Amino acid sequence: MRRVLRGELCTGCGLCASVSGGSLRMDSTPPGYNRPVATGPVSRAAEAVIAGACPGAVVAPWPPGPATHPYWGPLRRVTAGHATDPAVRFEGSSGGAISALLIHALSSGLVDRVLHVAPDPKAPTRNRIAISRTAQEVIDRAGSRYTASSPLAEIDAALAEGGAMAFVGKPCDASALRQLAKTDPRVAAHIPLVISFFCGGIPSHDGVGRILKTMGAPAAEVTAFRYRGRGWPGTARAATADGRAFEMSYADSWGGHLSKEVQFRCKICPDAVGGVADIACADAWYGDDDGYPSFEEQEGRSLIVTRTAVGDRLLEAAIAAGSIAAEPLDPSEIDKMQPSQARRKRLVLSRIASLPFTLQPVPSMAGLKVFQAARRAGVGAALKNFVGTARRTVLGRRSRL
Ligand SMILES: Cc1cc2nc3c(=O)[nH]c(=O)nc-3n(C[C@H](O)[C@H](O)[C@H](O)COP(=O)(O)OP(=O)(O)OC[C@H]3O[C@@H](n4cnc5c(N)ncnc54)[C@H](O)[C@@H]3O)c2cc1C
Ligand code: SF4
Ligand code: SF4
Repeated sequence: MRRVLRGELCTGCGLCASVSGGSLRMDSTPPGYNRPVATGPVSRAAEAVIAGACPGAVVAPWPPGPATHPYWGPLRRVTAGHATDPAVRFEGSSGGAISALLIHALSSGLVDRVLHVAPDPKAPTRNRIAISRTAQEVIDRAGSRYTASSPLAEIDAALAEGGAMAFVGKPCDASALRQLAKTDPRVAAHIPLVISFFCGGIPSHDGVGRILKTMGAPAAEVTAFRYRGRGWPGTARAATADGRAFEMSYADSWGGHLSKEVQFRCKICPDAVGGVADIACADAWYGDDDGYPSFEEQEGRSLIVTRTAVGDRLLEAAIAAGSIAAEPLDPSEIDKMQPSQARRKRLVLSRIASLPFTLQPVPSMAGLKVFQAARRAGVGAALKNFVGTARRTVLGRRSRL
């Protein structure tokens, strides 16, 4: 874990704190990333579990399958669609697909609860772990939250409780959970469904601080905060107890502030597409004339990719029950919707290749088609990223990559 922290490879998933028996706790450390902090000695047994599952040390390989794309991972079914309930579609980040799938998983009895994240009522710009047992609770927790989250920080207790839960987390959280399952049989027994999303990276909490400042919202008085959703893409919105409201477009909040605060580990992420989840969702952006996604406000649309038989059955059942409307999509369309994801995956190899030269650790990334993706990168871009990563590492400015 020390090596992971020294190399800025911690994603903040929280798994280590949960399995440490109280010797580690998650804390927000400057500039606002969730990191483990030691409060006592970590046992050898816990250390072994952490070494095998921490996504800063090892990233879960994609399961072998007939259709595994070097950028987009294992593909069973690729669709674009949305929740048919207008309230779910509106509240959701994209088309409300994740929430609609969760609601269907609850109502069909596949799971008895959902473990995901929600706004922290005491600090509404931050995240906390939430357990949802009803459709309304799932809807209340819809929407992307672009700041640190540690959904695995209480996974040990959640597994001890038994039952059947759905887990929603970032791709690195899903990776940690799949790795944990290799040594802890309770994961397979009690988590029949793992849902993730395409992830551009976790910005520090300072990022939202900059948004509030630009909006003119007094941080100490903010009682509710949405990063987006309520429309597609929706706006960042802050509200205060005395009824004042502040707003910023998604293009400005993500493009102007949050994307500049993304932690280093995300810049070398070999699976930011939820390749080991049962289902991964994303924004099914429409490309503009230049081939770049348009953030013009419209009715929500999700990219929904099933990766396992479990995920495929759930999507099929949700469509049959009328909870989700979805059309098949040619996988080549994802390239147009997600150009930044494709670019980052092409450049992961050149970025990590520079790390040993500056004596930095590298997470294990076997089975994630990092080499195949790198073959699609131009020599110039690869070289620039190799040198740029080394230079910024030496200068201590890797967040500027
Ligand atoms: C940090 C981050 C980066 C993202 N980057 C991209 C990207 O590059 N490209 C892209 O297409 N999509 C990205 N997304 C995903 C996208 O914003 C939508 O979440 C996705 O399309 C699903 O939308 P939905 O309407 O189906 O989900 P909803 O129905 O709104 O459900 C969202 C679910 O995600 C959970 N959640 C929200 N924030 C977090 C968080 N920080 N950590 C863990 N769980 C969370 C909620 O608890 C909820 O269950 C990102 C999301 C996040 C949180
Ligand atoms: S990535 Fe997760 S398991 Fe690894 S050190 Fe960070 S919080 Fe702990
Ligand atoms: S980009 Fe990768 S490491 Fe960063 S939060 Fe997303 S899944 Fe985790």
